[in-house]
Order: sequence, then structure tokens, then C-alpha cells
Amino acid sequence: AKPLINVKNLKKYFNVGKGQVLKAVDNVTFEIGQGETVGLVGESGCGKTTVGRTLIKLYKPTQGEIFYKDRNINDLDKAEGKKYAKKAQMIFQDPYASLNPRMTVGDIIGEGIDIHEIYKGKDRQSRIYELLEKVGLNREHANRFPHEFSGGQRQRIGIARALAIEPEFIVCDEPISALDVSIQAQIVNLLMRLQRDMNLTYMFIAHDLSMIKHISDRIAVMYLGTIVELTSSHELYSNPVHPYTKALLSAIPIPDPKIEKGRNRILLEGDVPSPINPLPGCKFRKRCKYAMDVCEIKMPELKEVSKSHYSACHLISR
Ligand code: SF4
Repeated sequence: AKPLINVKNLKKYFNVGKGQVLKAVDNVTFEIGQGETVGLVGESGCGKTTVGRTLIKLYKPTQGEIFYKDRNINDLDKAEGKKYAKKAQMIFQDPYASLNPRMTVGDIIGEGIDIHEIYKGKDRQSRIYELLEKVGLNREHANRFPHEFSGGQRQRIGIARALAIEPEFIVCDEPISALDVSIQAQIVNLLMRLQRDMNLTYMFIAHDLSMIKHISDRIAVMYLGTIVELTSSHELYSNPVHPYTKALLSAIPIPDPKIEKGRNRILLEGDVPSPINPLPGCKFRKRCKYAMDVCEIKMPELKEVSKSHYSACHLISR
């Protein structure tokens, strides 16, 4: 598919005082095709949410570019910037914290419609009803407040709010992490249905590989601000090459206890190192059982190891 979003050498650094720099995103390059879902996976602190926020212009890159249909989103004039703000939306991890408790659901969904002046009066109201129905709620819900809903329903409200202004691209920032497992699948199915119906493009952020397989066409695995593996969802699960991806995959619980018992889990030892003043060489080396001398000196680059399958590891790309 033609790229809708093109991210080139993106860096986002934060000054954290005392001359220290936190390299949240450190040279990340990827693209998202029109109608595609790219999953972004990694432990907390790996920079995935920072990438998401930079894509919808909540953060400005320290370096690098983000193109939306060949236009650099940080070079847009005011009118174009407003258009982009309409086209690119975000769904948040905690549906409760992201919904104003003093506003009715109808007004929460209507807020974006008002800012962008898309529908007015009666049309505005019917648009809100239509959106509620689209996400599996009903029009009576418009006059109620967020606290009257369950976690899953609140996330449906968050999705309706994101859809209200007819976006093309949605950053889904761990939209299911705070929900019960039984509800997670419902929300993933809803997002997939909406994608088909409305021709949406997603970036789907998750902290593990358990649910992301079903929704993602391709998956990028992030570690300490960099992408360590990037390929199609099917290829990543059937033929992972990076030691970190393998560890993440082996951490997915399998519901069948017989299989679970016989499994060889790769345990990730130690915590994620700090992204402040990271070690030279491969950022994963302190936790990698294959680490070699070269891993201490040279940072591995993301290279194509087989068709459309990229990995950053000296083991495979020497
Ligand atoms: Fe492990 Fe070295 Fe590969 Fe890093 S580059 S993942 S330390 S083998």
C-alpha cells in the first residue's frame, strides 16, 4: 500500500536536568501504508508512546521527519496544521482518565465536531447517535456520564470521540492494556471492523505480543528507543530473529496448561536499562545471552535479513 505516514530518522530527546539527556526515541525509521495497521511493541520506557505522540504532533521531533502524504507534518501552515489535527487522532490507554467526568458522553463526542465545525444543530446530534451505534453503544447513552460505564464501554466512547471528526489515521496507544482479557478481544474486533468500514490506518501500540498479532499487518519491536525488528505479523511470530523478540514471544502465556508446562521460556533478566546515557554498542547486550565482543562496541543497524524482514543484531547481519 502507498505510505500514508512516513517516519524518517526520528529522534526525540528530553533534557532531564543536570546535563542529562533521555533519548526516548533514537533514530527510528518506518512507514505506515494506507489502510494498514503497524503494531509497535516493547516494554514500558522503550519509546513507543513517544513515537505515537510525535506522530500526532503532541511532541516536536528533536531530529528527523514525519511525512503525511509526502508533506512534513512539522512544516505545515496553520490551515494545513488544522487539517492534519483532524485527520490524525489518538485513542488512549486509560479510557477513564481521558474522558472528562463532568461532560456527558454526547458532549465528549461532540467536542471535536464543534472545534472543527463539521456538523451543526440537528446534524451534529444525529452524527453523535450514529457514532454511538457504530461503536456498539446506543443513543440513550448520549446523556449519561463516563462513570456510569464499564471499562470496555468507556473505551468505546474514546473510540467514538476519535472517529467523530472523520480521521484517516489513528494512533491506538495501548487501548486494551487496562481492560479484562475477555473485553480486549471485543475492542480489537471493533477496531478491525471500523478500519474496514471507514478505511482507517492504525498505529497500534502494545507492551507485549499477545493481542497485537490479530490486528497488525506488520509489527515493529522497539527496545530503548530503537526498532530492533520489523516485519509482517505472520513472519514475526513464525520466524523471529532478534533475541529480544524471541524473549517477548516466549513470554506470551498459552491458555493450555499442558503446552504451557512443556515450554522453554526465555526469561529476560534484569530491568530495561535507563535510556539516559545508554551504554555504547547494542542496547540489549546486558540482557542478551548471545552478546559478543562486537556488541559492546558497535550498535547494530536495522538491516533486511530476508525479504521485508528487518532486524538490528550482529548475530544475523554480520
Ligand atoms: Fe545480542 Fe549482540 Fe544481537 Fe545485541 S547485537 S541482540 S547483544 S547478539
